[in-house]
Amino acid sequence: MSDDLLKKVISHAKEYGFIFPSSEIYDGLSATYDYGQNGSELKNNIKKYWWKSMVQMHENIVGIDASIFMHPTTWKASGHVDAFNDPLIDNKDSKKRYRADVLIEEHVEKIRGKINKEVAKGFKRFGDDFDETEFRKTNPNVLRNVAKIEEIEQKFKDSLGKDDLPAVKELIEELGIACPVSGSKNWTDVRQFNLMFSTEMGSVAEGANTIYLRPETAQGIFVNFLNVQKTGRMKIPFGIAQIGKAFRNEIIARQFIFRMREFEQMEMQFFIKPGTQKEWFEYWKKTRINWHNALGLGEENYRFHDHLKLAHYADAATDIEFNFPMGFKELEGVHSRTDFDLKAHEEHSGKKLQYFDPQDNKSYVPYVIETSIGLDRMFLAILSNSLKEETLEDGSSRTVLTLPAALAPTKAVIMPLTKKDGLPEKAMEVMNELKYDFNCQYDEKDSPGKRYRRQDALGTPYCIMIDHQTLEDNTVTIRDRDTMKQDRVSITELNAIIAEKVSFKTLLK
Ligand code: ATP
Repeated sequence: MSDDLLKKVISHAKEYGFIFPSSEIYDGLSATYDYGQNGSELKNNIKKYWWKSMVQMHENIVGIDASIFMHPTTWKASGHVDAFNDPLIDNKDSKKRYRADVLIEEHVEKIRGKINKEVAKGFKRFGDDFDETEFRKTNPNVLRNVAKIEEIEQKFKDSLGKDDLPAVKELIEELGIACPVSGSKNWTDVRQFNLMFSTEMGSVAEGANTIYLRPETAQGIFVNFLNVQKTGRMKIPFGIAQIGKAFRNEIIARQFIFRMREFEQMEMQFFIKPGTQKEWFEYWKKTRINWHNALGLGEENYRFHDHLKLAHYADAATDIEFNFPMGFKELEGVHSRTDFDLKAHEEHSGKKLQYFDPQDNKSYVPYVIETSIGLDRMFLAILSNSLKEETLEDGSSRTVLTLPAALAPTKAVIMPLTKKDGLPEKAMEVMNELKYDFNCQYDEKDSPGKRYRRQDALGTPYCIMIDHQTLEDNTVTIRDRDTMKQDRVSITELNAIIAEKVSFKTLLK
């Protein structure tokens, strides 16, 4: 069912110019994708929504655009050279490669499914009198499974913490996890694999240097901490935001744009006084979930998942998970990174990266709360959530993308009813007026019904039809994507009607 939905999303994305496989004429390159004419518009609008809400709406947050290449010592300091690894394991029969942590997580998810089934049975049995909290606290089957999950997660955390890879393999065997492809439990040992791409800078004659393609945008912010603080005269607490490409040589890159080897991140590092990290962590969790909820994709489609195994830099971390076609998966991370990064860069560079606090009259290395969201994952969340197949009153059906209007690639399509009688000229006139404020398109091909359907599938909020009456009284019909209702309005009203619907202000407020 959900596999079907993902397939539908992929084929819709291709058919309507949102996403193409990269270098498709050469049969594509694994886990890389190109955004097409509509995809790049949608992607830019998501960026705009993030940038406006993080930078424009916060007077103490500024944005930068750092380079992808950085001095190689950056990645030594950040811990990526030594610790940016995934534990991988191969199935000897299918020759398929997996991430050991993902195999274990999926197993745990199955047990969670059993718990939910038990709860659903309780609901059925007791009806309105059902007390779910009490049931979860007392039902022996639920309790047994909860204990099982805790034991697995603890074991896994302990093994990875000690870098005890044989113990991770033992856990996989103990749980009886089989390869989904071959069905066998014939596993290799678990190994660590570094996810950074490397390349060489300069010609070999010059003595080339190995450098890395950044695996996260955050380090470009840390190394510029003092530059921005001093030149922007920033006072703590303050944040630095950035949108940019990141690269990871993912072991398994499946599930469309969910896991790519080249992707884009929208990250913000918020510099705070040490000791205040708990409050700010909570603040950013709340602020970020509000940002998501404002889009109207459904609050039930988000959940927090606190990290058990903390990354080498964090003292608290949570994922905001989204209900993708493949189930709930990480969309965004909120991390309390302590002073790990700035301290490490101080040590490796020999430069002080401290803030002088005028109130306390002393200097310190700030603590950091990070919010980090994958732009492509956000794109997938929005696209998959918006793609709908609707049955209409007359029994026919339509495919519609109910994108949040502010994010829609095209805001309005201007259509002449026919290609003659001066209607195309009039339509171009309207188009030429609206195009200064909105991304508009002109369409005169096919019957009106067909043109409407095409725009529904592209998520265009409004279709504006120029007909013979337009020539007489300067009115047009404007059709709403969601209600499919058509209203007759004056051309002079169009700008205000569209502006109200597609404004970012509604989302940001
Ligand atoms: P995962 O556990 O799914 O590999 P992660 O915990 O390694 O993700 P972070 O390092 O926290 O991810 O990166 C921040 C965000 O960047 C993630 O929440 C995700 O949205 C995005 N992201 C990370 N890796 C990829 C990828 N390979 N493709 C697309 N987006 C990614």
